[in-house]
Amino acid sequence: MTIEVLKNHIGGQWVDVGSGDFLDIHNPATAEVLARAPLSTTVDVSKAVEAASSAFGEWRYTPAVSRIQYMFKLKNLLEEHFEELARTITMENGKTLGESRGEMRRAIENVEVACGIPALMQSEFSEDIAPGIDEYMIRQPLGVVAIVAPFNFPGMIPFWFLPYAVACGNAVLVKPSERCPITMQKVFRLFEEIGFPPGVVNLVNGGAQAVNALLDHPDVKGVSFVGSTPVARHIYRRGAANGKRVQAQGGAKNPLVVMPDANMEMTTRIVADSAFGNAGQRCLAASTVITVGDAREVFAQAIAKAADERVVGYGLEDSVTMGPVISPESRERIRGLIQQGVDDGADLLVDGREAQVAGYPDGYFLRPTILKDLPLASEVARTEIFGPVLTLIHADTLGQAIEIINRGRFGNMACLFTSNGGAARQFRYEVQAGNVGINIGVAAPMAFFPFSGWKDSFFGTLHGQARHAVEFYTQTKVVVERWDEKWSRQF
Ligand code: NAD
Repeated sequence: MTIEVLKNHIGGQWVDVGSGDFLDIHNPATAEVLARAPLSTTVDVSKAVEAASSAFGEWRYTPAVSRIQYMFKLKNLLEEHFEELARTITMENGKTLGESRGEMRRAIENVEVACGIPALMQSEFSEDIAPGIDEYMIRQPLGVVAIVAPFNFPGMIPFWFLPYAVACGNAVLVKPSERCPITMQKVFRLFEEIGFPPGVVNLVNGGAQAVNALLDHPDVKGVSFVGSTPVARHIYRRGAANGKRVQAQGGAKNPLVVMPDANMEMTTRIVADSAFGNAGQRCLAASTVITVGDAREVFAQAIAKAADERVVGYGLEDSVTMGPVISPESRERIRGLIQQGVDDGADLLVDGREAQVAGYPDGYFLRPTILKDLPLASEVARTEIFGPVLTLIHADTLGQAIEIINRGRFGNMACLFTSNGGAARQFRYEVQAGNVGINIGVAAPMAFFPFSGWKDSFFGTLHGQARHAVEFYTQTKVVVERWDEKWSRQF
């Protein structure tokens, strides 16, 4: 069987990458090689930026109402190819087919919202700021912008940005994760069918070298990044030092608080999905549950049972509820953190370090793991594990739980499970996190809200999705205009 070698898509053409360096892309459930991904160099990136710059010239003169016609076509093509794209995500990333379908649905919702750009880009007008003088603000595109994505949502995350950037009149470069680049390769085949003017959307494969070339290129005006916190910080610093606009969404360590008055059956189901869905490789995954008061033992027993019931296997199979993690290295790192938690004094309530899946002996499988009573001083209590590992800690009161959360360095998501409205209000009001869930385990904002995130989970001001994306991808121009009435009276 020949293995497909992926290409870049630049200026409307599929092009080979010059470096000669490739990464094998493995199916994490079978370890089979699916494709070879090229690693672009600074030269490859420059060619892509050049193509985008020349496309921008025409694209920004295309009226917004015409630009969104491409978005309507894109929505229809994504629907037509929905199953194929979902299967591709499962094969290259490992998540279950249901999770991949959910991911593609979220991607499409962003295209739908971007179809409203003519209204979303509208701005402000003040008549008569002085006699005969009006003042107004208009939004104009930035130029060439780049999107750098992580491995865990290869279909959805580029769509937190791309539809808005393009519909606002920018020319775009997408740099998918070098670990899951196949989905975007297929999406770009759809872009070809849509017939975007050459260079409006460009695909650059590669890793850190390609990203740094984008950060240093003077013609790239904005960078949208999603990935781990150390890389997000690097992107923010280097991009800003080069005078670019940057939005950089980072890692997480999401706490969920379970009150004694929570509906335990519903809470357990939701928390299990949050912690073990996507094999825990989700920036909105539950990492830590803080039980309050009497919830401690009852919740621990219930969640241990739910963890045991998870069906681990190849995500393309219907019965499977949790797929593998992305790589053998990642599995080893996760096993190491579990051991460190045990060494630091946690009780290993459920041990998922070894997982045998019939028919897939080479897959990178783990089972759900629960570390109970992890001491807060443990490094594991502060580290993003990014695997199917849930830690349980305890607090006597809601106030104490909120204090523990607010001492953490991340602020991506925090959730509360309760039947008490007052507790819910206190939590929403005081907790330091950008995305908050009340009786929700994955508080993922819909496409018409920004994907928030605070503290070390986000560097920048404007987030992805919706109005924030429109503001990020446009610069404001304020015009003060005088037309004297007597000039019109002469006709
Ligand atoms: P990662 O940081 O390793 O990689 C993300 C991107 O950065 C990739 O495209 C990669 O090529 C590039 N990159 C990696 N190292 C680089 C370097 N030294 N210099 C320049 N570019 C570099 O992240 P990942 O492992 O692919 O994704 C998982 C991480 O993403 C987790 O930390 C997760 O929490 C986070 N994430 C955050 C959100 C959010 O919205 N906050 C969403 C999804 C994932």
